[in-house]
Amino acid sequence: MRLPSGCAVGLDRLVLAPAARALGRSGRELAGLLMPSLCVLCGRQDGTVCPECAPGLVAELLHPFRAEQDAAALPLYPVPLGGPEPSLHPVPVVAAARYGAEASRALLAFKDHGRTAVAGYLRPAVHRALAAAPRLLEAQGPFTLVPVPSSAAGFRARGYDPVEELLTGALPPGWQVAPGWLAHRRRPLVAAFRPRSSHAGTGSRQRRHRGRDRFRTSRRYAANAQRGPGRNVVVFDDVMTTGSTLAATWHALEQDGVRPVGAVVVAAVTAPGTAPDEGLNSA
Ligand SMILES: [Zn+2]
Repeated sequence: MRLPSGCAVGLDRLVLAPAARALGRSGRELAGLLMPSLCVLCGRQDGTVCPECAPGLVAELLHPFRAEQDAAALPLYPVPLGGPEPSLHPVPVVAAARYGAEASRALLAFKDHGRTAVAGYLRPAVHRALAAAPRLLEAQGPFTLVPVPSSAAGFRARGYDPVEELLTGALPPGWQVAPGWLAHRRRPLVAAFRPRSSHAGTGSRQRRHRGRDRFRTSRRYAANAQRGPGRNVVVFDDVMTTGSTLAATWHALEQDGVRPVGAVVVAAVTAPGTAPDEGLNSA
């Protein structure tokens, strides 16, 4: 049976309402109090990140860098090189860290195991990446940061939006967040149960186009001052693997007449062939 779309909209509004958020938050805080304080990296009972593990995690989070080279699904844009044909390049992405052993475990604990205190390590890294973004993206502020939204199911499971949580208190001067500008497009139930075609392409062009209609822009924010003249738009997400989630956000924003100057992510998978499950991206 398929829910009428109005009903689904109502459920989402309820789940994302401030009261529901507050309930999810207090539940999470209670879980934090009840849970023994095990190190998210080694499991020892010595704080969120134990003194032995902390230096390794901090070191992995120290140096923001341009991370688009290994993300095969990112959208391409033409760069004139002086010849007859412009060269195509993936859109620029700044990552606060590589998706290494420490950063990946810290992010998973933060996102999927309710260990929100890990944000104390991740937020400074986000701040450094945003502060370095004008230089690394070769773009001028002021900037409007558009977070990739949690799905309603992800929000229900966690009681918080990890991407928004990471941005709290992490913004350098000249940055403002536009939460709610992007939303998940609801997928008809029929499509959700349809098996994937065995002939689905795996080439870079197919990867670039698959699932690019996942997001839509919210009309509430379309006329907002955050997209005003003189502001550059940057997309923000936690983990970039192939870049397909960022590609979908680009598609939605460009359909709304907005071309982002780049993206900032907390961690990027940099070695080809070692991408973790795509579900890590803001499920
Ligand atoms: Zn440890």
